[in-house]
Amino acid sequence: MAIPFLDLADTNAPYIDEIEQAVCRVIRGGRYLNGPETTAFERELAQSCGAALAIAVSNGLDAIRLIIRAYIETGRLEKGDFVLVAANTYIATVLPISEFGLRPIFIEPDPETMNFSWSSALLTLDSSSLTLDKVKAAIITHLYGTPCWDAEAARRLRRRGILIIEDNAQAIGATVPDEGFNGSCVAGALGDAAAFSFYPTKNIGALGDAGAVTTSDPVLAETVRALANYGSDRRYHNIYRGYNCRMDEIQAAALRIKLRHLNEENTRRRRIAEIYNREITNSIVAKPRIFADTGQVWHQYVVLLPPDLRDSFRNYLNSKGIGTDIHYPDPPCLQPCYEEYSALASPDRVSVRMARSCVSLPIANVSPTDASEVARAINDFSTDDYNAKKQQTHK
Ligand SMILES: *Cc1c(COP(=O)(O)O)cnc(C)c1O
Repeated sequence: MAIPFLDLADTNAPYIDEIEQAVCRVIRGGRYLNGPETTAFERELAQSCGAALAIAVSNGLDAIRLIIRAYIETGRLEKGDFVLVAANTYIATVLPISEFGLRPIFIEPDPETMNFSWSSALLTLDSSSLTLDKVKAAIITHLYGTPCWDAEAARRLRRRGILIIEDNAQAIGATVPDEGFNGSCVAGALGDAAAFSFYPTKNIGALGDAGAVTTSDPVLAETVRALANYGSDRRYHNIYRGYNCRMDEIQAAALRIKLRHLNEENTRRRRIAEIYNREITNSIVAKPRIFADTGQVWHQYVVLLPPDLRDSFRNYLNSKGIGTDIHYPDPPCLQPCYEEYSALASPDRVSVRMARSCVSLPIANVSPTDASEVARAINDFSTDDYNAKKQQTHK
């Protein structure tokens, strides 16, 4: 039995009739942008996380770009400001920081949560070695679907005038025990603003690119909306040099359907993560933590292997028909485009160690039976196989 890492046709199969109907409705309706589907999706998305406002946009990267640009236009951020960001996030979190001449400060992850460490962030702010009064924002990534939230630490950052922007590409529907700035406990409505991605592989995926910005700040929302529409506040009147970052009606129509099934999808993912955590007993494999008080949504289920065992582990699973992936092989500071930060990437950094040891197990298309099979296969993986192979290659 093959268990692929990801099969998007299978992901969408349960909704195909509903999606086909919705797409046809849009085609026949003749309204392809800025129409009723987009408006309804914005309302439903905001409601689902408890944010006052949502703006549907073109993709997750653009959502982050629009938030930063809007804060620049409204005078909250300016060129040269520092932005705290997780050292192990996906590169799309970092690109908009440098695009606008802001400077990232990479914060190492907490090994327990694999997320941005709030205590390191606070320590960094208190260290005297930097002129840190220019730290003006923190972009927190809820990586792998585990919310990154420490209400007390977030309030301390806020008191220093630091904006908290959530990169919520991976954690739609996730919940935390302590509420955020506006009284919600749901990812996407915890900080000052949030970016969502509906890239097809995310927990709610579009049939192409799509994203969203949520916030409870009406000025920010209005600015983002204008920037996403050529910078116009009304038709043929441009107050900013903006972009075209709109979401298609077809995508909005499909996303509305999938948003209705979000809880089922996240519940299934939680169930798979619980099976993996209970049934994987191989001591070579370090499992992620399930936090009892937190609603994790398991965009990825990531285990850690000793780096020199990782390839043979993946090859072994592959030989059993089980697909895996790596999220991510290199942190942003090791990418050629961020060469100036490469000195940060010493091998003893948590982010670099994790990049060398992480393996994502299949979760998107996995049934409980599949999960038990994956766990059994993992438990049968032994270092003896690995050592034997190593000797063979050395002969
Ligand atoms: C997917 C992703 C993005 C980018 O979203 P796109 O829709 O692909 O532009 C940003 N940040 C994180 C953490 C992501 O996983």
